Amino acid sequence: MANLIDGKAVAATVRGEVARGVLAFRERHGRVPGLHVVLAGEDPASAVYVRGKEKAAGEAGIAGEVHRLAADVTEAALLGLVRDLNQDDRVDGILVQLPLPAGIRAEKVLAAIDPKKDVDGFHAVSVGALWSGQPGLVPCTPRGCIRLLDHAGIVLEGARAVIVGRSTIVGKPVAALLLARHATVTIAHSKSRDLPAICREADVLVAAVGKPNMIGAEFVKPGAAVIDVGVNRLADGKLTGDVDFARVAPIAGAITPVPGGVGPMTIAMLLDNTLLAATARAAT
Ligand code: NAP
Repeated sequence: MANLIDGKAVAATVRGEVARGVLAFRERHGRVPGLHVVLAGEDPASAVYVRGKEKAAGEAGIAGEVHRLAADVTEAALLGLVRDLNQDDRVDGILVQLPLPAGIRAEKVLAAIDPKKDVDGFHAVSVGALWSGQPGLVPCTPRGCIRLLDHAGIVLEGARAVIVGRSTIVGKPVAALLLARHATVTIAHSKSRDLPAICREADVLVAAVGKPNMIGAEFVKPGAAVIDVGVNRLADGKLTGDVDFARVAPIAGAITPVPGGVGPMTIAMLLDNTLLAATARAAT
């Protein structure tokens, strides 16, 4: 049976580290880091995510505000708010919660964020920095995946890593981080041929697809580390990952559960990114 990687416990450790880092930052700079979240519209899932971020930031001692905007906010008004936050010295991190209401171009809004405050790591400057090995802010969920692998003691250097999914939010940045750690990386997607055979090559298999239980035992090399990023809600309301946990856990070497695996790491890494952004800004 695989070693179960406890994301809740690792996230609690990261949040404790951030809280201590915030105290040290305050001691040194006479203020605490500030995280500002922009929530436009009434998407219920977004409202839940934002409440979680707000609560976690408060618990870590991070200051900030949620800017709640009506669904009919104009793109110009949203861009104006982002520019104001860029200029505000108390603001270290800006997070624009996606999806945005219809008619607002997310790429335009994300591009307006000062890359130094881009705690989601989605700005093109952040993406370029990641792929070219320059310092910059790295997307939270992918950072969380690497932290879980490190926690489980998985050797990444020289490992064969396969990521299923090539989104800008998860698949591609996870690939960049694994490459930077000297893994040999394959990114698979919906057009990949013979996906189970590709995945069976992996010492480290990361599933970021959004298809419940798609990764069965036939995708997994015995002893492989399996990171399940997928969050899928079933008809009965239960959450499940992209990995068929019951069939894969007996053969994997290490595996993350859903819920309680990658999920809790995303917010923990957002707090850490806010502290990193504040520290980098304070040093300039
Ligand atoms: P996405 O943008 O929809 O990307 C999904 C990727 O999976 C695409 O690259 C797609 O390939 C690929 N794919 C779809 N069907 C496939 C198939 N049958 N075989 C192989 N590849 C296939 O999704 P995402 O934003 O990356 O999110 C992926 C999952 O992670 C979702 O369940 C999401 O809820 C979850 N997630 C969790 C967290 C967290 O905090 N735990 C954070 C972000 C996302 P193509 O490119 O060819 O279409």
